[in-house]
Amino acid sequence: MAENNENKAGFGPLNCFESSNVTFERAANRLKLDHQVREWLKIPFREIKVHLPVVMDDGRLRIFEGYRVQHNNARGPHKGGIRYHPEVSMDDVRGLASWMSWKTALLNLPLGGAKGGVICDPKKMSAAELERLTRKYTQAIAMDIGPYQDIPAPDVNTGENVMAWMMDEYSKIRSYTPAVVTGKPVDLGGTPGRKDATGRGVAYIVGLWAADSGIKMEEATAAVQGFGNVGYYSAYHLARAGCRINAVSDTGACIYNSEGLDVEALLRHKRETGTVSGFEGGQTLDKDEVFGMDCDFLIPSALENAIHGDNYRSIKAGAIIEAANGPTCPLTEPWLLERGITILPDILVNSGGVVVSYFEWVQNLQQFRWAEKQVVRELKKKMEASYKCVVYKAKEDNQSHRIASYMLALNKVAGAALTRGVH
Ligand code: NAD
Repeated sequence: MAENNENKAGFGPLNCFESSNVTFERAANRLKLDHQVREWLKIPFREIKVHLPVVMDDGRLRIFEGYRVQHNNARGPHKGGIRYHPEVSMDDVRGLASWMSWKTALLNLPLGGAKGGVICDPKKMSAAELERLTRKYTQAIAMDIGPYQDIPAPDVNTGENVMAWMMDEYSKIRSYTPAVVTGKPVDLGGTPGRKDATGRGVAYIVGLWAADSGIKMEEATAAVQGFGNVGYYSAYHLARAGCRINAVSDTGACIYNSEGLDVEALLRHKRETGTVSGFEGGQTLDKDEVFGMDCDFLIPSALENAIHGDNYRSIKAGAIIEAANGPTCPLTEPWLLERGITILPDILVNSGGVVVSYFEWVQNLQQFRWAEKQVVRELKKKMEASYKCVVYKAKEDNQSHRIASYMLALNKVAGAALTRGVH
């Protein structure tokens, strides 16, 4: 216990809710937000904990624990992904849910924030077991989700299949409802452009920041931690914009090539072997060496707390572009900023996913399909507008980009909550 407190007095580790609250308080102080309003906005509206009995392939019964936290819906229905991971906890889901409330507000989407998770290790489960688990989870939360209540989406270790099963199970219970989840396969009411939306958005933000900082993309270098949906598509779109991807890591290793990695060949290697380790187009290093890369952009795209008390001093990148949620422990942030390292925050950088999820929801509600070109054009517009607001606010108030983003978001959520009232 003593060691825990000591850690927290120093530089982490913090769970996502603690992490989110550190930044919340910093921004709320700048806004001089009323104490009671702070408490109201910080605490999630509803927290659901479920126990899910699932018959495994060998006939044994296993009980899984799952969560859904609905943080705030002052500005619209709750919205947020579902994570399957052995280390997911209620506190992490709380924090992730609150980040969704701030993200949807910052991007001016008519949505609130939520998040879900199930403690499981999908790498050790068959597709049939994952399907049974997903259907049980959907049954357990079916009365609390819905197109105007709470709209789940993919997150770590969940993707189109999980969303398709959720939509199907929910539709069995409450009639055909594609708008209950986003991130579905295109043939089942998904939208073109959703799969790579988060990474595409990351690349837009990097491009805008590079232009503002006088960095030419053709001369820029990046290191990407994590090579799943967000990491791969961020690297892919950055490489297409001319940026050299010098390093990519996953749980197995970090692959480095000073001349730049062939991102698509690396993905083929990962699909064949299950890891980036051993890729012939680069040198295999320890996975954590990605943080010490001398590059323009360090792009953490894996999990929260990637940059923490033990590694933050090794960072040499000019900017940290937060593609994951909560990758920088906020207690390390003052030191990083003092060293002139720019941090572009998660609620702006990775918002492409929820923006295109919003477009998917709109299409489902209207029963009208958009072309991919329209999705991409509207995504770009939304992200550019929010980026400009954040940069302007940061300059005007002489604040970090994270605090500026939170100030903009908190103002909107507080305004909506107060206008709707407490009664
Ligand atoms: P994913 O499961 O597709 O990929 C996660 C990747 O991280 C995997 O390649 C895994 O090997 C890697 N990883 C995990 N621990 C690591 C470690 N210690 N070192 C190096 N690599 C590690 O998940 P995703 O959907 O890409 O999500 C990644 C992050 O982005 C999460 O924080 C998620 O909440 C956030 N996010 C996702 C979306 C989305 O649309 N999927 C949208 C916004 C934010």
